[in-house]
Amino acid sequence: MDLYEYQARDLFESKDVPVLRGLVATTPKEAREAAEKLGTDVVVVKAQVKTGGRGKAGGVKLAHSPEEAEQRAKEILGLDIKGHVVKKVMVTEGADIDEEYYFSLLLDRANRRYLAMCSLEGGVEIETLAEERPDALVRVPIDPRAGLDADAADRIVTETGFSPDDRDEAARVLTLLGKTYAESDATLVEVNPLVRTSDGRIVALDGKVTLDDNAAFRHPEWDQWRDDSQDDPLELRARAKHLNYVKLDGQVGIIGNGAGLVMSTLDVVAYAGSDLPGSPTPANFLDIGGGASAQVMADGLDIILSDPQVEVVFVNVFGGITACSEVAKGIRGALQQLGNKASKPIVVRLDGNAVEVGLEILDEYDHPLVTVEKTMDGAARKAAELASAAMEGK
Ligand code: GDP
Ligand code: MN
Repeated sequence: MDLYEYQARDLFESKDVPVLRGLVATTPKEAREAAEKLGTDVVVVKAQVKTGGRGKAGGVKLAHSPEEAEQRAKEILGLDIKGHVVKKVMVTEGADIDEEYYFSLLLDRANRRYLAMCSLEGGVEIETLAEERPDALVRVPIDPRAGLDADAADRIVTETGFSPDDRDEAARVLTLLGKTYAESDATLVEVNPLVRTSDGRIVALDGKVTLDDNAAFRHPEWDQWRDDSQDDPLELRARAKHLNYVKLDGQVGIIGNGAGLVMSTLDVVAYAGSDLPGSPTPANFLDIGGGASAQVMADGLDIILSDPQVEVVFVNVFGGITACSEVAKGIRGALQQLGNKASKPIVVRLDGNAVEVGLEILDEYDHPLVTVEKTMDGAARKAAELASAAMEGK
């Protein structure tokens, strides 16, 4: 889960990371009241959207009075920033900025550790900086067993080249950000910019935090941050059914068991479709896991068939613990449950445990929408061809 900036600000504050006071507003009037409450000469009105580059897009504006804050909020609310419509703003106290730095701490999966990145040239897009002036971005590997402790923080600030006057305070703030990362089960904590204010404080002015959803079970406090309004409606429905579903934008619905098999199914379908008219591609990722019941199959098919872009469904199951006979019963049960709602062709490839019985069940059921193919490649080709033909027919 990605946090909004105001949520990251709240999280930082709870971990003693220096931040500016900030209040959320959903209307221009609330923004004016927030500015009144903050009571500073300057406030900043900031669009709350889960994407970067808000400043450039006109989503971050200074205001010198509560009335002006209301006016700025009027301009920012409803703005479309890279496809994200602004529904909330945060009004923060204005900071008098001397310098803007960059800091991030993230999970480095390939090297099985954390990676801290720091630069004296923050406030700009970090991808651009990393490309154009890689020397200006310091990378320090962090041992996850120790975390970003005081030693690591010292190394980072020294290598980055903070002035001797700022080193201790910068290291202290980095340690607190490291603590936030560890205690929050985050996979990313990014502060851009981390600033030094004219009165010498080091403050996190902007925050981007990604939390590891696998740790949600031990963080009941995350519930307050969940926000479904930006999620795909099909993914929301799938989540309610506890299905492992990710919406993609192609035409071939995919159901498989095991994440690895489903991933390779996406690949073979995309490959099979690549030289066909319309170039059909996968419509989704859906892993029904082991022991797929008729109900799980029906739920999965129901969601996939609700996707108006879907022209064909490809069920690709390799029976391990799951017996193919059960999967076949699942498909049959699903089609019986769905009745007329099932209207798109279904290509099925079964293999492994109890495959003979499974195929027999489908053969006997003899549903007009179901086509059985022997191999994964053959089934992928068949599904892609059906999708391509349907697309051409439109
Ligand atoms: P982003 O563009 O989405 O990354 O939004 P940021 O929160 O990082 O803000 C963009 C830029 O606005 C910062 O790099 C600062 O230069 C500027 N900015 C944000 N808040 C303040 C503030 O309180 N005072 C001043 N002077 N500038 C600010
Ligand atoms: Mn920023």
